[in-house]
Amino acid sequence: MNASSRIAIIGAGITGPTLGISLAKLGYEVDIFEAYEGRVEEAGSFLNLAPNGRAVLSRLGVADHVLAAGYRSSAITFSNHKDRRLATNPETTTNIMRGSLSAGLREAASLAGVRIHEGKRLVDLNSTGSQHWKIVFADGTSSQAEIVLGCDGVHSATRSLLMPEASTPSYTGVVGSGGRSLINDSEILGDGKFHMFFGLRGFFGYQVIEPGVVYWFENHNEVNEPTFKELAQVSDEDWTSRLAVRHDCDPNVISRILRASVKNVGRWPVYQVPPLTTWHCGSAAVLGDAAHAVAPHLGQGASLGMEDAYELALAIHSRNNIADAFTAFEESRSKRIASVSKQAQQTGSVMTPSRWILRLMRDLMLPLAIKQQVRRGSQAYDYSPSPWPDLPG
Ligand SMILES: Cc1cc2nc3c(=O)[nH]c(=O)nc-3n(C[C@H](O)[C@H](O)[C@H](O)COP(=O)(O)OP(=O)(O)OC[C@H]3O[C@@H](n4cnc5c(N)ncnc54)[C@H](O)[C@@H]3O)c2cc1C
Repeated sequence: MNASSRIAIIGAGITGPTLGISLAKLGYEVDIFEAYEGRVEEAGSFLNLAPNGRAVLSRLGVADHVLAAGYRSSAITFSNHKDRRLATNPETTTNIMRGSLSAGLREAASLAGVRIHEGKRLVDLNSTGSQHWKIVFADGTSSQAEIVLGCDGVHSATRSLLMPEASTPSYTGVVGSGGRSLINDSEILGDGKFHMFFGLRGFFGYQVIEPGVVYWFENHNEVNEPTFKELAQVSDEDWTSRLAVRHDCDPNVISRILRASVKNVGRWPVYQVPPLTTWHCGSAAVLGDAAHAVAPHLGQGASLGMEDAYELALAIHSRNNIADAFTAFEESRSKRIASVSKQAQQTGSVMTPSRWILRLMRDLMLPLAIKQQVRRGSQAYDYSPSPWPDLPG
């Protein structure tokens, strides 16, 4: 498509700036509108960026810059609640604070020529004729664009405005949290690996990122959906004490890390977006979590958003019109998303089974499954970015 088309991206989390970088490098004029203003939120938690996400950033030539504040894990280990090591996945991943990742991506997007406007919360989107949109923000201002791309996350306003009939996100039954602990303890393995535990009543992971500093996360099932407000009302100390009690039948390292946690523990009810019949409407579309937030059990959401961003930019560049670009993009992406989503559901179902027989089966099957994944290439990590075009100049 013509590089003179004006493109507006809604949301500067992970998918939005990656899309901005990809489009700007292909010669498009891009504006990103982000609801929040000021310093990118540093609260609480890190995320684990898988090799497929890194592959996108490497292809765009920004991996070293964007991931400079991250920590490479040399492998991922899995143990059960009795501290028995079940399997080791030799894939290398990167643990990075969510805020640092977003800040790095925004910086790379600005360097590529993208204009980022903060404090611009999308509240309305009006089609003003063929392929033109008026984008209205909560502060009363507005902007115009020919193409609007919603990267505004699981509770996407772009999606609600474009597809009011689409189902709303559903609670996965999982509450997640994550933080940082300061602890010097020789029994806490600082071996460069990301250690995960299938606890009896929750799933826990940690990595020592430098001597005395540990990143950790925890996911557990809660039948009744808590609100963000309810979770925020619990103090950090109270929250980590509750988690330590939840894990009191699991390896002792878990409660020691939890009790050494410092302030700003992130915690969230986790949602997923039910499959949409389409991701686009006219010359506007949604991608990343806005289109397909998947259950968190594989740590794939950010990487899938980056894959989407890269592939959509190439589809826009290589097609003659936006409708063809969106159709090709959706066709190429929906199978992959469905497959990763299914794997995430399956993984979630064996996280914390209440019956011992199911735990035993998991403990027997997991080593075989990981070995097979490593031999064949894991479906989740297995993604090669499409070739980047030769650009003039
Ligand atoms: C508990 C938990 C743990 C996770 N762990 C991992 C992990 O280890 N690895 C991994 O890869 N993924 C993980 N994920 C998933 C990952 O966080 C998401 O998939 C990823 O952040 C999606 O990126 P996104 O840019 O599409 O959406 P988001 O990161 O949600 O970004 C959306 C952006 O849009 C902005 N926005 C929202 N509404 C508006 C509006 N109306 N107008 C303008 N801007 C707006 C927001 O402020 C935000 O900046 C986890 C998720 C959860 C809940």
